[in-house]
Amino acid sequence: MKKLTKLLAAALSALTLMGLTACGTSAPADTTAAPTVADTTAAETTAAAGLDADVQAIVDRGVLRVGVKNAVIGFGYQDPITGEYTGMEIDIAKALADQLGVDVEFTTVTAATRTELLDSGDIDCVLATFTITDERKQSWDFTTPYYTDHVTVLVEDSSGIKSLADLKDKLVGVSSGSTSARALTAAMIDAGVIEDTGFDKSTFDPATWKDGIAFQQFDDYPGISTALAAGQVDAFCVDKSILAVYKTEGRSYIADEFAPQEYGIATKKGSGFSAYCEDFIQSKLADGTIDGWIADYNLG
Ligand code: GLU
Repeated sequence: MKKLTKLLAAALSALTLMGLTACGTSAPADTTAAPTVADTTAAETTAAAGLDADVQAIVDRGVLRVGVKNAVIGFGYQDPITGEYTGMEIDIAKALADQLGVDVEFTTVTAATRTELLDSGDIDCVLATFTITDERKQSWDFTTPYYTDHVTVLVEDSSGIKSLADLKDKLVGVSSGSTSARALTAAMIDAGVIEDTGFDKSTFDPATWKDGIAFQQFDDYPGISTALAAGQVDAFCVDKSILAVYKTEGRSYIADEFAPQEYGIATKKGSGFSAYCEDFIQSKLADGTIDGWIADYNLG
């Protein structure tokens, strides 16, 4: 924020020196209204003050590369026939690219692959139901959340499982690299279904936890759904938005929803693009655009 404030100050003084008296792409150049912070957008500010090198590199490349989901309806969904991506996270990415004045290129990511693709520079940011956590914030930057989901559990009706209590001693399918197993274990502890002995939020490992609940980790969600149908796992746990596409006939959610999952845009830690994305999300929250997308995709 400090850097942005500095950039903003530089931009405003540059505009004053240049004798420009209006901001905003739609404002005529000869208007006499004085520039204010409120009507100066992030793009205009950084454009006037000079973009950070990493943001400039995206502009020079002419393409913003974004990691998205391909099977989360309403967030990131790829039509198997047309290959077209739709959803709120797709719209956010497109608007971000528009503001930068570049094209957008989507790469399908999973919970297991999204961070390595970001670290390697294959993608500039992740917009993929990526929950903001304190641990993750040590390694990547996240914007202010644009959406909050909850975790729940999908089961076959024939299993008779209806609640957290019914999950005692069951085997649950989760995605590797996800928050799901830890969230479910914590919820079962909070509900008094299992003991908290040995549970440590910061070191929790789904592969080794066996006390009253056990987990099988999968690379992707279709694999968990297939295992659920085959009876290889008793339940499928992840964010409700992700589960929706797998809730076919004969399957239900348990009654409990838990562990709020705040989704943010993830970028390389300390990068200029992190500040750019934060400013972008702030402006889209403030002007109601995010609420509009939530309504458009019936995510409210
Ligand atoms: N949102 C959760 C997470 O970030 C679930 C995993 C996923 O997004 O695929 O861990």
